[in-house]
Amino acid sequence: MTETGSITPEQLRLWDKRHVWHPFTQMLEWQQDEQIIIVKGEGCWLIDSEGKRYLDGVASMWTNVHGHCRRELNDALKEQVDRLEHSTLLGLGSEQSIILAARLAEITPPGLDRFFYSDNGSTAMEVAVKMAYQYQVHSGRPERSRFITFRHAYHGDTLGAVSVGGIAIYHSTFKPLMFETILAPSPYCYRCELGCRKETCAMECIDALEKLMVQHAGSVAGLVIEPLVQGAGGMIVQPEGFLTRVRELCDRYDILMITDEVATGFGRTGAMFACQHENVIPDIMAISKGIAAGYLPLAATVTGEKVYSAFLGRYSELKTFFHGHTFTGNPLACAVALKSLQLFEQDNLLAELQPKIALLKLRLADFSALPHVGDVRQCGMAAGIELVADKDTGTAYPWEEKVGIRVCLEARKRGIFSRPLGNTIVIFPPLVISTGELDLLLSVLQESIQVVTEQSFEAFQ
Ligand SMILES: *Cc1c(COP(=O)(O)O)cnc(C)c1O
Repeated sequence: MTETGSITPEQLRLWDKRHVWHPFTQMLEWQQDEQIIIVKGEGCWLIDSEGKRYLDGVASMWTNVHGHCRRELNDALKEQVDRLEHSTLLGLGSEQSIILAARLAEITPPGLDRFFYSDNGSTAMEVAVKMAYQYQVHSGRPERSRFITFRHAYHGDTLGAVSVGGIAIYHSTFKPLMFETILAPSPYCYRCELGCRKETCAMECIDALEKLMVQHAGSVAGLVIEPLVQGAGGMIVQPEGFLTRVRELCDRYDILMITDEVATGFGRTGAMFACQHENVIPDIMAISKGIAAGYLPLAATVTGEKVYSAFLGRYSELKTFFHGHTFTGNPLACAVALKSLQLFEQDNLLAELQPKIALLKLRLADFSALPHVGDVRQCGMAAGIELVADKDTGTAYPWEEKVGIRVCLEARKRGIFSRPLGNTIVIFPPLVISTGELDLLLSVLQESIQVVTEQSFEAFQ
């Protein structure tokens, strides 16, 4: 008898290769490689069909907060499923979605108290973009239809979300299908587009941003930004005060500020939401990944009275926000999200995070000394370690050499599951991770980086 019951791990592997098309995956390689199949979760650990354990170093794609199969969350889900599994928000209210919105309104920045539910980060961003534009239409400025976005930004994979993104390798194929945006320089200090250096940086990229605003004044509906850290772009951490300056510029040029807190929300940066570190209040905010603690798909686009009230009018005025998804406000997901918020308090999670963030900072300093580590970036409980072929010049490894992937394969042999962003190694564990587990994660990643960077690409092949 195996962990998977009557279906053998061999059969699962066969069916997986035969029928499942994996996201962001070259399936030809997938067919050839030996794959791990997860059948169980326990705290910060994933357990495969052979019973082998892996520390979940990326919180199951940045979603997990309180660990896997946390008893309180499981119970909340079971309790809810026996009451109501789903009922639509189109024309009806549902209990859990109402309580969750009221509860979220207590913790989101002041004034952000209107919640438009959807199912994932991409849809939350689609909603944000459409909401911002329709707001301009209702405000009598339909010519304000463009968006300012940042290079290296990531906002999801549906077409609108891709349009406001800025990662060439993911997005360039779909260019003919995308709408054009006004692309601002990324505050990527290690590889500054403006040729500035971190030591002498005066946030010249903010001046560049202002120039774009002046140039396009009158045609811009909104600006879209991942606050504090550009996640999928490589854990690119912004200089302190950057977000504040962006908010000031949005105010000066009357542009809606849309913050994408899909990755940063729910404690990841050490505060409930990243924008709270700088007391910035956006006009529209997207939340998803951690909202239901990694249990179920759920998202919301949050706004306040200014935007919301522009949509009010008689039915015949056509001011309705014509957007919605079938599973919007799903009661099971909302019930888990509510219990998750309770656990944040009960476990004193944000306070408990601070020593772990400090430990991460301390241990990351060791990585900086490694010969192929070009840059180390940390924002709360998220970090990126950028590996380079030449540390003196910052020359990147050719992407075809898959250095990041190879490091993660080494880590996997040592019982750690991680997933890189190009040549950047990611640290993004469940927030509940213990200091011992965090220490293990970092030791294994350090060793794996050393093994791979000392080995030639030919040896790997
Ligand atoms: C993951 C992510 C998204 C997309 O979320 P999905 O649930 O994968 O659609 C959007 N924005 C940011 C910042 C993300 O990290």
